[in-house]
Amino acid sequence: MTERLTWIQQEIEGLKENGLYNRIRTIGSPQGAWLIVDGKRVLNFCSNNYLGLANHPRLIEAAREILDRYGVGPAAVRTIAGTMEIHLELERRLAAFKKVPAAITFQSGFTANLATIPALVGKEDVIFSDELNHASIIDGCRLSGAPIIRYAHCDPTDLERVILENQGKYRRALAVTDGVFSMDGDIAPLDQIYEVTSKHGVMLMVDDAHGEGVMGKGGRGIVDHFNLHGKVDVEVGTLSKAFGVVGGVVAGDPLIVEWLRQRGRPFLFSSAVTPPDVAAAIAAVDLLEESTDLVDRLWENARYFKAEMKRLGFDTGKSVTPITPIMLGEAPLAQQFSRELFEENVFAMAIGFPTVPRGKARIRVMISASHSRDDLDKGLEAFAKVGKKLGVI
Ligand SMILES: *Cc1c(COP(=O)(O)O)cnc(C)c1O
Repeated sequence: MTERLTWIQQEIEGLKENGLYNRIRTIGSPQGAWLIVDGKRVLNFCSNNYLGLANHPRLIEAAREILDRYGVGPAAVRTIAGTMEIHLELERRLAAFKKVPAAITFQSGFTANLATIPALVGKEDVIFSDELNHASIIDGCRLSGAPIIRYAHCDPTDLERVILENQGKYRRALAVTDGVFSMDGDIAPLDQIYEVTSKHGVMLMVDDAHGEGVMGKGGRGIVDHFNLHGKVDVEVGTLSKAFGVVGGVVAGDPLIVEWLRQRGRPFLFSSAVTPPDVAAAIAAVDLLEESTDLVDRLWENARYFKAEMKRLGFDTGKSVTPITPIMLGEAPLAQQFSRELFEENVFAMAIGFPTVPRGKARIRVMISASHSRDDLDKGLEAFAKVGKKLGVI
């Protein structure tokens, strides 16, 4: 190791001492209700594969077929020579699915945020941001150079307070919020937020990564859930969670979509997702448009699991979505709980500071349509056993 890099070793030691070092488990199977993790078959309560599409035969077939027609790569950034017919088809299909006039896709939800926020606001402007927004929103806000003013989590009254406090000080203003908050599973009160932002002429952007394919009619997202079509200016989504593939999307006003084709830097300076990704995402839209069965099953599973966990005596926090936090308090307890679950063949991650506040450590259970009732019962049994052993219930 060269002298110049010893600081990294010290930083890493520090993470390990404080229980903050990421130990990444390795998956040796396709995504699904069960996984092979570090060589062991375990029940999967970790992934964002809400609808089981990551290994769905229809998506696999669509990806396989497009490989023969379009090959493996887009070969250029989209503005130069990398936009294929299928990229445009996916954008038309996503816009129609979400009942908005236009959509544009990106490499990921993360880059969709990095593209969108700096295209909408700059140094002369201001951003009002929910205090618990996702890291990619925060990074997009920082990149824009606009001052970032945080408002209390999911609190439209506090949002209005900060808007009023800053009135007249800036050229333009943007309010931005997660749709579904991934650590607690609560949702932004988008109808009330819209009332505030529209009253004060503030642009409104929602990042619906965990709501896409989950919330709204047949998974059309949080804007559909609140029936705010045409009102929320920008809806960011991901194709890597419920859609089971990879990619990001921005849907909404056609002017914003056109603007992002001109000024969205990850669109202009980074290549698009590959043809098989696009084909699989289109197949996901097909499935969601054909039937609400998968979304219905996801919610049925989520309701069942949450009700049974409460009956066992666990605290599932304030979740109103399939994201089910099991509140445990201190990080070492959550980590021990996760390890004991793994011994019982259940894969569920412990989440602690700084991802969630100190003293609010938890296990986060991600429910999927691909879980059978029997899978959920096996999971519940393991939670009951470990919960009793560790004195949580
Ligand atoms: C997961 C997530 C993202 C990132 O999406 P990717 O497509 O995985 O890059 C962005 N925003 C929120 C709120 C998320 O939960």
